[in-house]
Amino acid sequence: MKALTFFNRRTTVFLSFFAFLYIVPIFSSPSGSPSPAPFVPREFPGQDEVHAFAQAYPSRITATRVIDDQWALEMDGRWYFWAEGRLLPNEERAQWEEYVSIRFYNYDLGPFEVTQLSPATVARLEAQNPAETFDRRIRFNGFFDSLYQVNSRVSADRVMVRTRILGLSVRVHPLLVDPIRRVNRRVGELVKNNPAIQTFVQSLHQAHGYNWRNIANTLRRSFHSYGTAIDLVPYTYQRRQVYWLWAAQSGIDRWWELPETERWVVPDQIIEAFEAEGFIWGGKWVSFDNIHFEYRPEVIFLSGSLSNK
Ligand SMILES: [Zn+2]
Repeated sequence: MKALTFFNRRTTVFLSFFAFLYIVPIFSSPSGSPSPAPFVPREFPGQDEVHAFAQAYPSRITATRVIDDQWALEMDGRWYFWAEGRLLPNEERAQWEEYVSIRFYNYDLGPFEVTQLSPATVARLEAQNPAETFDRRIRFNGFFDSLYQVNSRVSADRVMVRTRILGLSVRVHPLLVDPIRRVNRRVGELVKNNPAIQTFVQSLHQAHGYNWRNIANTLRRSFHSYGTAIDLVPYTYQRRQVYWLWAAQSGIDRWWELPETERWVVPDQIIEAFEAEGFIWGGKWVSFDNIHFEYRPEVIFLSGSLSNK
């Protein structure tokens, strides 16, 4: 993926050099290919995720190192510890079990396929009743609040900017403006020679970005609250399923098995254009949300490194 450009070109060149020296060894396969970086401790938890964040947000994350046998990262002069995937400051570490882990998703880059689930996952899905499911667990907000410099509706309202995505007006976090511009340029090129892509883009009615709210059926802040998620809403879903909860509520018992032909989907080339700029597509989640794109460059970096293993 291209360097994220909320920093200047000279910085990019510098970071590319930095990445060559440090990131490549860190992300190389732990099994199989030899490691050229013997000075990097490999055995401490959070290594891949912490370095993915550092790679994704070089203007925010200023240092990474092992402290107390786990990886930690520094932002605004404060250290956040891996803490079983919670990314907690020192004073919260002892209470890590009170929080849910940050989701990194087992995200597969490239063309969409309906995921083949393990029997254990199917059993878990069969056991849950979406009508009664309310997830009361909380996420520690401090890490993402600091990362995006947003910690309330008022501060979010002040930060957000209006831009256009695939011709549609949308309000987002400023971090997304340049990646969106590059998505627009790439899709603009595709449209010229590909009638199917053109038809898809013309079928879009609205884009919904910033919206201060929790994830449905949870107490956890949605990435829409940070302006880092965008829903691309078409004029019509053509009687296809678009969101797992609506499918479940409409009486489809085994909604996770819905074939691609019964889902409203985004063309693969458009998904790839978003992924190349650090966005994941919610249509690839088991609990699918097919209008949803989320700016998670750290997840893209992790997926790239994982798929190389
Ligand atoms: Zn969404």
